[in-house]
Amino acid sequence: MGNFSFDLAEQRAEQEREAGIARAKAALRTEGKFYCVACCEEIDAGRRKAFPAARRCIECQRRLERQRRRKWTSN
Ligand SMILES: [Zn+2]
Repeated sequence: MGNFSFDLAEQRAEQEREAGIARAKAALRTEGKFYCVACCEEIDAGRRKAFPAARRCIECQRRLERQRRRKWTSN
């Protein structure tokens, strides 16, 4: 029985780890809509309203589209 308290502590630590991961995932899901994935700046409220699925701020989105266009035209 010497290991009982250790096992219990280990089990609790495991549960806390899982709860922490679940919290982090939930935060990512919600914050993904509020913060740009590229520069971590807050996405403009008007843009969020117009594009609820937007993951980048307008500046990063424009830069990305410019880069894509350059790539396409050079091919
Ligand atoms: Zn950005």
